[in-house]
Parts: sequence; C-alpha cells; structure tokens
Amino acid sequence: LESCDVLIVGGGSAGIATAASLLRRRPGLDVRIVEPSEHHYYQPGWTMVGAGVFTPERTRRRTEDLIPQGAQWVRGSVAAFDPIHDRVELTDGRWIGYRMLVAAPGLKLDWGAIPGLAETLGRNNVTSNYGYETAPYTWKLVQAMQSGRAIFTQPPMPIKCAGAPQKAMYLSANLWRDHGRNDIEIEFHNAGPVLFGVKDYVPALMEYVRKYRIDLNFGSKLVAVDGPARTATFAVTNADGEVSQVRREFDFLHVCPPQTAPDFIRESPLAAESGWIEVDDATLRHKRFENVFGLGDACSAPNAKTAAAARKQAPVVAENILSLLDGQPIRAVYDGYGSCPLTVERGKIVLAEFGYGGKLLPSFPKWMLDGTKPTRLAWHLKAQALPEIYWLGMLRGREWLAGPHHIEPAPQLRPAVA
Ligand code: FAD
Repeated sequence: LESCDVLIVGGGSAGIATAASLLRRRPGLDVRIVEPSEHHYYQPGWTMVGAGVFTPERTRRRTEDLIPQGAQWVRGSVAAFDPIHDRVELTDGRWIGYRMLVAAPGLKLDWGAIPGLAETLGRNNVTSNYGYETAPYTWKLVQAMQSGRAIFTQPPMPIKCAGAPQKAMYLSANLWRDHGRNDIEIEFHNAGPVLFGVKDYVPALMEYVRKYRIDLNFGSKLVAVDGPARTATFAVTNADGEVSQVRREFDFLHVCPPQTAPDFIRESPLAAESGWIEVDDATLRHKRFENVFGLGDACSAPNAKTAAAARKQAPVVAENILSLLDGQPIRAVYDGYGSCPLTVERGKIVLAEFGYGGKLLPSFPKWMLDGTKPTRLAWHLKAQALPEIYWLGMLRGREWLAGPHHIEPAPQLRPAVA
C-alpha cells in the first residue's frame, strides 16, 4: 500500500493552506493532496465578477501551480474512507495509506434539489454568483436589466459565505438605482428568519435595504423554477408555521443553491449526524478518529463557512498534526473566526468579522475600520489586498501575511488561577 505522513483530501482553500502551513513548519514531511480539479478557484472573487469589478480569469489558477513545494499532487477523487485501517480509496480503485488524514473537500452545491433550476441556470435570465461559469452572466444581466422584477434567493443555513446572496443584490441594486432604473422591483427571498446571523451588522444593512427599496421576505424558500415561463415558486412559512406555495414572475433571478456535505462524506464514517465531518470545534480533530482532522466548509464546526475561516483553521490543524506526529499533546485552538465582507455598494463594504457565538473579532482597531459601518477601506481590502493575501499568504503558508493563530499554553504551564 502506497502511504504517506499526511494525506489531504481536497486541494481547495483549506487543503492547500494546510499543506503549505505543514511544510513551512517541517520541510521534508511527506504530504500528499488528493484533488481532481485542474483549476483552483478564488471563490470570494465571484461576487466581484458578478458586479463587473473582477474578470473571471482573476479568480482561477492552475492547481499544479499552487501545490506547495514538497507536497505531491495525487490527481483523483476520494471515494471512501477507511479510518480504522488509516487508508482511503480513490474512485479509480487506488488505495492510499496515511499516518495523519486531513479532510477538506468543501461542500456540495445542490442545484438538483430545486426542480427546473439546473436546466435553466445560465439562461432565461436565471443566474448565480455561486459558479465560475455563471457569475459573468450575472453581470451581463444586471447591465441589461431596465425594468421589471428582480428576485434574489437565499436557501436554509448553513451555506458558504452567508452574505453572498445579498452582496449580489446590493451591488446590482446600486447600479440600477444609480442609473435611475427605478422601475425595477427588487425582492429578497430568504428561507431563514433574519437578514444576517450576527445582529451588530444588521442596522447598516437595513439602511441599504431601505435606500434601494428592497422588499424583504423571510421564511420564503425557493422550491421550483420554470425558466422559459420566468416563474419561481416559494414555500412560504407564516408566523403560525403554516406553509403555503407562492409563485412569482421574474425578469431576473439570482439563485443561491441549497448546500450540504458532499455525498462521499455524508455516507462515510467521518460524518456526524448532520452529514458534516465531525470535529472538535476548537482543535478541529475528529471526535472519534484520533489521527483525522477536518476543516473548511465540510467540517461540522459552527463557524461561518468562509475562506477567511479556513485561513485561520489551517495553521491550527498544521500545529496539531505536528504535535501528534511528535507524540505530544495537541495545543492549537481555533476561535471560530470567519469573515464576510458585505459589498453594500460599489466602493463600500460592511466588514463582518466574528467567531463562535457571534463574538465580534475585528482585525483592525475601531478608529481605523469600524466593521459595523460601510467603509471605503474595507472595499480596498476586498478589491485589492485580500486576493493577494490569499494567493501569496494563505496558500503559501506565510502566516504573518495571513494573520496570527492561537496556541494555548500546555495545561501544565498554565498559570494557576489566584
Ligand atoms: P473549496 O475551496 O471549495 O475546495 C474544496 C476542494 O475539494 C475542491 O478543489 C474540490 O475539487 C475538492 N474535492 C471535492 N470532492 C473531492 C473528492 N472526492 N476527493 C478529493 N477532492 C475533492 N469566503 C470568504 O472568506 N470571503 C468571501 O467574501 C467569500 N465570498 C464567497 C462568495 C461566493 C459566491 C462563494 C461561492 C464563496 C465565497 N466564500 C467567501 C467562501 C469560500 O470560497 C469557501 O468557504 C472556501 O473556498 C472553503 O474552502 P474549502 O477548501 O473548504 O472548499
């Protein structure tokens, strides 16, 4: 059996960052990354593609060029896990063994869960920033739209970058209102009960909702799309919990698809009841398999599923894996940090940064950048700095560029409480 020190499943944001963090700390470690895709995507850039700020090409690089020096790329897909015997099976029938396993395969965009959606996506004025192919179509439609009804949808939580459905809406509305296209009616249909999960950011967002004259609908879940007929059907739950079906005609529909753990994870021994990889929220170690870690969108930790979270999780996983390989107790902990730059208008962002329990974790002092208010500085961060921090910092394991992580002192070194 082919075997290695650390096997990483998934070469996305979390997988590449973990490999880089491991090899920065310990060059010479035998690290392998199983990844099927020729290309790696900077998905946070797709919001900007949908608003004509970035070209799609800016958000895509060849996987080959991103595999950290010293790591080996295994081109393929994992089909099944056998954590009892420390090995995984690939879809082509190969088996690979490991001393430590890192599972970071991202999540599944479940387009097929909404009848009629997959067939019409990218046509009939139905678009989504949740895809490399369709984000440019959003921009095309936004420019062309002169009047009629524009609908933006948000599925039940958890989803990756929970703010992305409304980011698309604000940037589109900003252009339409600036161009005096006041005949465009804008509706937001959110399956959930609130505009944003951390309440400190809601007042700033509500100002834009009013300014753009957006009709907010909560408890309204997209359940079917008929592209040629330009109709969307919603299951609407009222205050008494009764559900009724409402059909709306549209001239523009931006869909955020329902999201789940990937099938091969849900069906594996690594899955929690919820389907996500069952990890400890702080150490990111699997709750039942000692030499398995999970991070990124696929793990069960209740943080905001973002690349920003993966940026903070990767060094924690790297530290803990090296401790285990050295026979030491694990000590690095993750505080739940995630970030969602809410693009409320072209040139301004409400920069949500928070950890477990909705605790605000700003990266900047308030006088410099108050994340609960729209600021130009946060826009420059998103438009100029963050892509570079991603490619050159996070994916290369340069943690001084990517922000600090937290290591708890070993229990025996902790000062006694007076
Ligand atoms: P991914 O980066 O999705 O990578 C998963 C990888 O696993 C993929 O390369 C895939 O090919 C691979 N894989 C899948 N199945 C297998 C298998 N069977 N075997 C091996 N490999 C497999 N985050 C932010 O921080 N800020 C933002 O502003 C932001 N905006 C966003 C806007 C949009 C429209 C979207 C879609 C996302 C946004 N995100 C944002 C979220 C961010 O992109 C994700 O949270 C992040 O990419 C998660 O990293 P990951 O490695 O877990 O998953």
